[in-house]
Amino acid sequence: MFNTLKGKISSVYLCLVLVIAIVGAVSVLNLYELSRAINGLMTDNYKSIGAINNMVDALERQDSSMLIYINVDRQKGIDLFTQNSNTFLNWYIVEHNNITEPHENEYVEKINSCYNAYTKSFSQLQEILNSQGTDKAIEYYNSQIVPNFTNLKQELKDLSLLNEKAMFQDKNSATGNAEHSMYIILAASSIAVIGGFLLSRFSTNRFLEPMYSLTEAVKLAKPGNLDKQVSVDSQDEVGVLAAEYNNLTRRLQQYEQSTLGNLMAEKNKSLTIVKSISDPLVVLDTNYKIMLLNNACEEFFNIQEQSVINKHFLEAIRNGEVFDHISSVLNSREDYKEKIIRVRSNDDFYFNVLVTTIKGVDANVTGLIVIFQDVTQLKKLEKIRADFIATISHEFKTPLASIIMGTSMILEENMGALNEEQRSVLTTINEDEIRLTNLLNELLQLSKLESDRAFFNFQPCSVAGIAETSVKQFYEQAQKKDIALYYDIDDNLPKVEADFEKITWVVNNLITNAIKYTNAGDEIVIGARVKDNKMFVSVKDTGVGIPPEYLDKIFDKFVQVKGFDSEVRGTGLGLVIVKEIIEAHKGQVWCESTLDVGSNFTFTLPLWGGNMQ
Ligand code: ADP
Repeated sequence: MFNTLKGKISSVYLCLVLVIAIVGAVSVLNLYELSRAINGLMTDNYKSIGAINNMVDALERQDSSMLIYINVDRQKGIDLFTQNSNTFLNWYIVEHNNITEPHENEYVEKINSCYNAYTKSFSQLQEILNSQGTDKAIEYYNSQIVPNFTNLKQELKDLSLLNEKAMFQDKNSATGNAEHSMYIILAASSIAVIGGFLLSRFSTNRFLEPMYSLTEAVKLAKPGNLDKQVSVDSQDEVGVLAAEYNNLTRRLQQYEQSTLGNLMAEKNKSLTIVKSISDPLVVLDTNYKIMLLNNACEEFFNIQEQSVINKHFLEAIRNGEVFDHISSVLNSREDYKEKIIRVRSNDDFYFNVLVTTIKGVDANVTGLIVIFQDVTQLKKLEKIRADFIATISHEFKTPLASIIMGTSMILEENMGALNEEQRSVLTTINEDEIRLTNLLNELLQLSKLESDRAFFNFQPCSVAGIAETSVKQFYEQAQKKDIALYYDIDDNLPKVEADFEKITWVVNNLITNAIKYTNAGDEIVIGARVKDNKMFVSVKDTGVGIPPEYLDKIFDKFVQVKGFDSEVRGTGLGLVIVKEIIEAHKGQVWCESTLDVGSNFTFTLPLWGGNMQ
């Protein structure tokens, strides 16, 4: 029963009810005693006093009846005497049966004997009156009866006084009893009140003590501070709650430790991976303060992690171009950007600087990872290749030029007349020479593009301006072939971030192809529109079209659609150059085409400043 809070509270209430019951019983007992004392006072003594008074009355009337007997009427006197004697005796019996006080009995006996003597003296009086006459009777009355009467009255008075005294005593004792009862009740009530107060206070504190410690522990409980356990002394509901709380915090702590452990393990793993990356790597916050760098970075830039941590990027790596590139990622809100940058240390190094944003849970950028990919060797190889192609091209171009000049002179018959067979052979040779020259030129251009991608001159350009430049260049050529060439671009379109010359080159290549693969009466239109924060530029013709199986191949090197007759045979490099330039602009290029209906080449360009003009 005392194991539960309910049982404990019930037992305290039971104790309080018992105390109230005891106090009530003591009060009732005392009041009962008091009422009994008052009752005694009211009934016994009062009854005696009443009987004595009646006896006195009867005695006085008897005395009068004696005088009536002597002086007035003998029979009436006797009758009155007898009648009052009966009354006297009746009240005497009442008093005799109501003896309550000490010595009262003696008084009653004395009264009895006195009264007997008194009644006898009346018989004596009757005899004296009858035998000796009235005078003698009066003399007897005065000498014998009156003293008896007085004596008897005195006895009755004394008895009455005794009862009166007893009454006063009873009254005093009742008052004393009342006071006594009052003190007892007061004491019992005080003890009950103090005891009840102490009991309820003690038990409330005792019952609520674990609740207080539980509340304190709950208040203090927070991640990292879950080791505070509540001491469980009781088996009651609060004890059960405290035990459950302890279990809960223990489980939370275990979970926290395991989560923390996992997190730490994961962090260490990531750190080890980052540290062991062979390319220099720096992690920055959004204020460009260094949060982490790896060993390769320390080594290459000759810095110590401890001395540059929390410092600005430029304090550790003083390279404005790299910093501009990093900040351009934050400013443009791009997730990833790379750029080949020359970094001077003891020697010249080329790094492909990769900048990737770190995003928090709410997709906000919280930092940046900068990786310096060493492409110096590639750069060198690239240079060797470019130099090689340039040398070869150059070496080829000079003899080729003299060959073309020679064949042209022979074909013009400056060196004598040619027969038809000779002319035909020489014409074929001349065409191949021109084609070879074109191929060499395009190879040279492509090689330059591939190696010089980092040196594009990006600036805000108007697509309409580019289209206008290209259309002007090819207008006559198109007109000669009876092809309508025009552009349809809104002047108010936003500007693009592009290298004007390179994009003009792209449009030129696409127009060249379109003129090549269209017939008289067809048309070529250059259009542009903005969608998804990008510029979509299209060169659309109503020419021969491209078979579907070629659509994803024509942007590869030397791919040409078989079976197409064209006045000038191409090199298969024009669209490769287009793709190269567009990808350098972070754009895409593709073609939609239907045979005998026409082709539509589309490429995308980034808008200048995101979406600003
Ligand atoms: P080429 O020098 O042969 O034109 P390109 O790389 O420019 O090389 O084009 C590759 C091939 O794609 C062309 O040979 C041609 O078959 C096809 N082509 C390109 N543009 C068009 C076009 N507008 N219409 C039809 N076919 C085209």
